[in-house]
Amino acid sequence: MDCTQRLLKYVVIRTPSDEESTSVPSSACQFELAWQLHRELFTMGITDVKVDTDCYLYAHIPPTPGYEQCPKIGFIAHLDTVSDFCDHRITPVIHEDYNGRELPLGDSGRVLSPEMFPHLKDLAGRTLITGDGTTILGADDKAGVAEIMTMAERILEEEIPHGPVSIAFTPDEEIGMGASHFNLEAFGADFAYTVDGDTEGEIQYENFNACKAEFVIRGVNVHPGSAKDIMVNAALVASEINSMLPAGETPRDTEGYEGFYHLTDMHGDVAEAVIRYIIRDHSAEHFAERKEVLRRIEKELNKKYGRGTVSLTLTDQYLNMSEIISGCMHLIHNAEEACRRCGVTPLILPIRGGTDGAQLSFKGLPCPNLGTGGHGYHGPYEHITSEGMEAACSVLLELVKLYANGCPRPTAELPDPAAQ
Ligand SMILES: [Zn+2]
Repeated sequence: MDCTQRLLKYVVIRTPSDEESTSVPSSACQFELAWQLHRELFTMGITDVKVDTDCYLYAHIPPTPGYEQCPKIGFIAHLDTVSDFCDHRITPVIHEDYNGRELPLGDSGRVLSPEMFPHLKDLAGRTLITGDGTTILGADDKAGVAEIMTMAERILEEEIPHGPVSIAFTPDEEIGMGASHFNLEAFGADFAYTVDGDTEGEIQYENFNACKAEFVIRGVNVHPGSAKDIMVNAALVASEINSMLPAGETPRDTEGYEGFYHLTDMHGDVAEAVIRYIIRDHSAEHFAERKEVLRRIEKELNKKYGRGTVSLTLTDQYLNMSEIISGCMHLIHNAEEACRRCGVTPLILPIRGGTDGAQLSFKGLPCPNLGTGGHGYHGPYEHITSEGMEAACSVLLELVKLYANGCPRPTAELPDPAAQ
């Protein structure tokens, strides 16, 4: 079975995760896909496969005899999708020999256009897969699942010599919980790749450092007629806080490695106000400086309006995994080499967000992210090509071969083509 056939089979099993839920997994529907994959892996001949009570699937492809000492490599994708645009049946539509131009999505009135997605022109001649314009497609991350499953099948069918290969499919990535109940011991790999990026060839290992900031402002409310030098209007102080931030450092104004302060919520009245931000920066140093700017604002305003007027709470969310990956750059160099061997241009891009891989890296499983071939995630314009998926799958297979090459070897001498 190829990646496209698998994707089409998996996307019709709807698996939206549920942000409101407190159970694990957040939605029971994710078990349906997990057990489906369990059956398929078992049928392929992979008997070491289990789905745990938290809906994590772990599978192991035992090494080819003589390759037991190779590095233990793993691949991870997520079972869930976003819940937006996922409230009814997903109907994938296949457009063979796509012409690279505007494409109406079913009867939805929505049009997939090169104006919105300039890369569409480069997809001309390929087999394009979309939804019908009323739902997501679900290629995020069922394309990753399909590519890992196809990789596993090819390793076995083509008897490709390989070291120990671990596979995991996780629930609840879209609500930020994919790494929370991940069992590193059950997974049993030295390092892994999440297969959850966009275009094929993408290799990501630098994500944001991230925290949340909340200012609570307590005002002094008196009659406005006799308020001179007495009243402290909390809502006005909230807007003063925002005006004290450097201009032009918002998501709208930044790209690449530029960080930002993102105002996410602001409400209040004279008596009390709350203003919330998320803070993002790739550089640990700049990230620390941004937090310092906020602390200084708190201090200055308390000096101006009286102690206890403003109280700031900073909550760390995740850190840039490059700190960890820099100690095992063979993961990146081998991914680049795998791309080149498949005729795919490697694209190393910073992630303007976080990934499960970032959390896993800090838990002890270094875990960069690879592209799946998909685009336009999290909305009705999501699309992917059969050719992109096959290329992404070939990259995974090449990685397995690279890590099996020349085994056994001590782990201190992991293959690093860049060093050769
Ligand atoms: Zn994803």
